[in-house]
Amino acid sequence: MLINRIFSGSDAVYGLTAEAVENAISQHGEDKAVGFPHTAYCLPCYYSVTGVKVKTLGELREALTVVKSLMTREHELEDALMSGVATALCAEFIEALKYLDGAVPYEEPCYGHLADSVIRELGVPLVTGDIPGVAVILGSAPTAQEGVDLIKSYQAQGILVTLVGGIIEQATELGLKMGYNLRIVPLGKDVTSVIHVVSVALRAALIFGNITPGDAGSLLSYTAERVPAFVNAFKPVDDVILAAGAGAIKLGFPVISNENENIVEVPGALIACPNVADFNKVSLEARNIKIKITNIDIPVAFASAFEGEIIRRGDMQVEFDGSRVDCAELVQTKEMDEVEDHKIEVIGPDVDTFELGSKHSLAYVVEVAGKKMQPDFEPVIERKFHNYINCIEGVYHTGQRDMFRIRISKDAYEAGFRAKHIGEVLYAQVKNEFEAVVDKCQVKIYTDPAECTRIRHEVAVPAFDRRDARLETLTDESVDVYYSCILCQAFSPSHVCIVTPERLGLCGAVSWLDAKATNELDPAGPCQIVTKEKPIDENLGAYEDVDEAVKKFSQGALEHVTLYSIMQDPMTSCGCFECICGIEPFSNGVVIANREYAGMTPLGMTFPEMASMTGGGVQTPGFMGHGKHFIGSKKFMKAEGGIERIVWMPKELKETVAERLNKTARELYGIENFTDMIGDETIATDPETLVAFLTEHQHPALSMEPMM
Ligand code: SF4
Repeated sequence: MLINRIFSGSDAVYGLTAEAVENAISQHGEDKAVGFPHTAYCLPCYYSVTGVKVKTLGELREALTVVKSLMTREHELEDALMSGVATALCAEFIEALKYLDGAVPYEEPCYGHLADSVIRELGVPLVTGDIPGVAVILGSAPTAQEGVDLIKSYQAQGILVTLVGGIIEQATELGLKMGYNLRIVPLGKDVTSVIHVVSVALRAALIFGNITPGDAGSLLSYTAERVPAFVNAFKPVDDVILAAGAGAIKLGFPVISNENENIVEVPGALIACPNVADFNKVSLEARNIKIKITNIDIPVAFASAFEGEIIRRGDMQVEFDGSRVDCAELVQTKEMDEVEDHKIEVIGPDVDTFELGSKHSLAYVVEVAGKKMQPDFEPVIERKFHNYINCIEGVYHTGQRDMFRIRISKDAYEAGFRAKHIGEVLYAQVKNEFEAVVDKCQVKIYTDPAECTRIRHEVAVPAFDRRDARLETLTDESVDVYYSCILCQAFSPSHVCIVTPERLGLCGAVSWLDAKATNELDPAGPCQIVTKEKPIDENLGAYEDVDEAVKKFSQGALEHVTLYSIMQDPMTSCGCFECICGIEPFSNGVVIANREYAGMTPLGMTFPEMASMTGGGVQTPGFMGHGKHFIGSKKFMKAEGGIERIVWMPKELKETVAERLNKTARELYGIENFTDMIGDETIATDPETLVAFLTEHQHPALSMEPMM
């Protein structure tokens, strides 16, 4: 019965797809281009499953015959599940047709197709458990309130929630704030739009897992084992939804439903749950998702899902703005007897006395003590403040040090949020995350303007200057050890980063000091000490001990890695890199593109296309993923001549890295304003124009030794 219903749903979707493809061909012709924007994978689901890139309507018609061959009818469960996969592929075809001719078929609040860059961004939060799972909610809840309560329950746990169908209208009706930054992503109102989340899961396998497109067995094991997704389908579950659900089950994503008619449970895969209020618990158990509980004594919610929440001027109660008045945030190491654990002090007036919409000074000093605490950990802890404060519902933080801005929303204020609650959050999170080094912690919150000025100029700025001076002296040569990081192996099983003072992890989030702190906090954890006592070639950054470490931590997948070369045994990429750098043969240099850049590069490739050349823990000479900060490093491509090889990068990235990059160029080669010699998209997006520009500006790469 269940199997017959899946077959019937699958047949119906196949019929609709075949008709839609034929209609499109009669209207536009077989050669008409088809595909989704901002992806290097054409029709990503079909490409992942078959290894074939479909680029035209004619090829789409051929692909349909392949899809048909998956729809076997032996009346076994496996046939039904494969028909589910075929249904998913048909859904992808139908959705792709919506994007013909560069159309923008989805409008707010719906997203439709999600770009490759979104998946790369999701990599780190998924492996760190910051996003513990992905929920796909389908259909209309019995009542709008029940639907919204379910969404919010996942949001409060940090789960990424995608919505398909009637639930979107229900959420809109109750005024739920939605958007990628709030981890609530309405995909589309048609059931076929569910394919956009499936596409994310399958591209994750290609990007992070180094799965060969077409290796359907490995693909399905990857999604089942490493993508923590599940489906919540509201009744009525018709044959089409059931067929789509069968596809989800084949990917390893359990389907939880309140449907009780014409349906039989499949243990662990298709689960009946009559009460929508129980969906959350049942789904998490079915997918074995563990939620880290953070209980903090504040009157609003605290969850990673609020990290991207933006408080607009009209919604804010008060603002603290370091660019206008004196602000500072600081961690200070103290002696044990100087710290009273969990003491939160507010020095100055509280938010109650501030006028609605007004701007004020704020300084908070987190004083910590512990036997294993080291001043080197202060900036590591401090850098987390941005994330901690942003996780408070209705509170928004940008910037750092003495240039931050915090907004408290009217809603948070109404709920009772006050200055001391910032202290409660900082205390709880510092103790929670740094318990191995912080034994005691107290927080002083200054709102008195004169005190803020004193703290900023007499305490914080001198501390920042001291730290910067120390960081300047931290070089690869000045330390005795490097660190490995294998955090991304949850997705990219053979990837290992070697983190050095002058080369941070390619995600941009793990510096040498971070790795050192991580190792002290969790000696058996993802960051291990890597000695550098047996150099092979210091110009390449090749060491026997580094090779031994990567071999061990990649379980033998990698044998040699160099730290400073893009050509010889370059470091692997897991997929969540901030930037990708690739050789530009005409200018003898390299082009860099960052994840945020959506345009074309002189390589004739976009960021997603360049990024697809590497990733998944494999070495690809000529391409290298890296963090933004690495661009200004004296070790960037040192073996090939260093930063002098950089010939092009997006304007915005160039502006971000200019100060550091120009300083390095001045120190290494005596070149002033090096970034003026580097092209960007406003100058050239093709090699000929780029080379003409470089020639005019006498770019050094043109006269360097050939790289290839
Ligand atoms: S340092 Fe490397 S392995 Fe570690 S989180 Fe960043 S990209 Fe992943």
